[in-house]
Amino acid sequence: MEYQILAEFYDFLEKTTSRIQMTNALVELFKKTPKDLIDKVVYLSIGRIAPEYTGLDYNFSEKSALKALSSVLGISEHEIQKKLIETGDLGDAGKILYEEKGIKPQKKLTVEEVYDTLRKIAETTGYGSTKKKMDLFVSLLKKASPLEVKFLLRTITERLRLGIGDNTIMDALAVAFTGSKESRAIIERAYNITSDLGYVASVLVKEGLEGVKNIKIQIGRPIRPMLAERMAIPSFILQKLGGKAGAEYKYDGERIQVHRKGDTFYLFSRRLENITHQFPDLIEFLKKATPEEYILELEAVVIDPSSGAIRPFQDLMNRRVKYVTRFHIMMYPIAGFLFDIMYLNGEDLTLKPYPERRQILEKVVKTTDRINLAARKVVDNVDDLERFFLEAIENGCEGLVCKSLQPDSIYQAGKRGFLWIKYKRDYKSHLADTLDLVVVGAFYGKGQRAGKFGSLLMACYDPETDQFKTVCKVGTGFTEDDFNKLEEILSKHQIDHKHPRVNSILTADIWYEPYLVLEITGAELTLSPVHTCGWDKIKLNRGLGLRFPRFTGRYRFDKRPEDATTEKEIIEMYKNQIQIKV
Ligand code: ATP
Repeated sequence: MEYQILAEFYDFLEKTTSRIQMTNALVELFKKTPKDLIDKVVYLSIGRIAPEYTGLDYNFSEKSALKALSSVLGISEHEIQKKLIETGDLGDAGKILYEEKGIKPQKKLTVEEVYDTLRKIAETTGYGSTKKKMDLFVSLLKKASPLEVKFLLRTITERLRLGIGDNTIMDALAVAFTGSKESRAIIERAYNITSDLGYVASVLVKEGLEGVKNIKIQIGRPIRPMLAERMAIPSFILQKLGGKAGAEYKYDGERIQVHRKGDTFYLFSRRLENITHQFPDLIEFLKKATPEEYILELEAVVIDPSSGAIRPFQDLMNRRVKYVTRFHIMMYPIAGFLFDIMYLNGEDLTLKPYPERRQILEKVVKTTDRINLAARKVVDNVDDLERFFLEAIENGCEGLVCKSLQPDSIYQAGKRGFLWIKYKRDYKSHLADTLDLVVVGAFYGKGQRAGKFGSLLMACYDPETDQFKTVCKVGTGFTEDDFNKLEEILSKHQIDHKHPRVNSILTADIWYEPYLVLEITGAELTLSPVHTCGWDKIKLNRGLGLRFPRFTGRYRFDKRPEDATTEKEIIEMYKNQIQIKV
């Protein structure tokens, strides 16, 4: 197949504004395409060389393209630059210059040759790769017509942008090879479970619709993610889900789809990029906690290993680096909260209802310090839903994902629907100041801090009742030295029951008499079902809690417990928080 056919098709598409015309043109193109080229034509038409999850890109800059053009045309880069400024597009500049120079292609370019050469360019990496890539591209330009040059230049610089979406391709495939759009659902399902339109097209032309129906989930090919709808009113959420829902914490981290077969792991991001290299630590944790062959989904967050507390999303962003080092792994420890399983030991689970999938997940995962299941509660009334929502916020989450428990609650790959409904906080606010809070209790830590405390229960002071009322659990911001120092100080104030002046709903593992004041910062104050500061004063049966609390490093030895921030001040701070609508 001549590449000129593709170039003319692209040229036509560039001029059309009608989706119907675009689909029709694609149908014609697909019909003309030899069977063994269909996948390549699909990839090239969406400006790629392989599905996105392979991460295969040309990595060829505009500057290199300009150089290649200059060497083929025998003119200076400056001259090309001038044409580029005139036309605003390198492809157009190349085409005009080819025409002006009257360049005659040495040979006809075929789609096979273009594809194979572009693929080699994409696969060439390492020492000397710039020169090798350049030589390969020059070899294509030498054989190209002016129109082909235009699209080769746009392709290599990743600016093809014909605007052909997945849906248009699927429509065109259905019409071209099955005669109508009726088969579209089958094609779409195959795409949703493989994320590879080229592959689906190739099966369709070679094996027909039956072949597409038989496409199975495969380890290494990401499943397109199921997405949630959003609703803001809990009673509506429950109603929509049939009066009952599996409410899960909505962790604010990075969604990761994990594929495992023995010791081989693939990790895919929400956008289905291959991010396996970014989480070597997570893979080690998963090896210990999960079975040998599966595809599952989790939300990765950064935690404080000693308390298990979730750290803010910004901390996770520090893991978004090209090369993850021991430093990143140590400074930003990862934990995974598993929330779905789509495949297990050769069996596709996506068509099983959610309660069954969750049950399977619970059965096959051996939870550890770092690998846990998403916290979940089955709720059937607004009060429970709200309480669980506030608890989620309190624990550093964004809110809840409420999931359908109905028999039709399948894993809807690639779809946003009401089988999952997210319930998030609508407002974001900022804490204007730090708080000076009193240590009144502690909770045992995990991992290295097992048997010792991992987080501290902190309280404000209420002069009216002469009570210390809790505001947060803090496990973040402490160095190893801090832990040693705190142990030494606090051991002298340990008591075997809650201090009578402490007003707490939470039951600490260790209690202290109110003595030590620490400076604590946090993201914001929120309504809380478990902290007693401001109880009933803003909302019935709710207090105020501090989100993402962190020790600033300042010991307020200069303050007595009664000099701590007061309940009244905290209520004021809550009211004064700047409310920004998201
Ligand atoms: P958002 O920006 O709200 O995260 P989104 O478009 O990325 O939205 P949605 O499907 O709308 O995705 O919302 C669900 C997202 O919440 C998932 O993509 C996932 O990353 C995250 N998440 C966290 N915890 C869970 C959970 N328990 N179940 C499902 N998704 C969860």
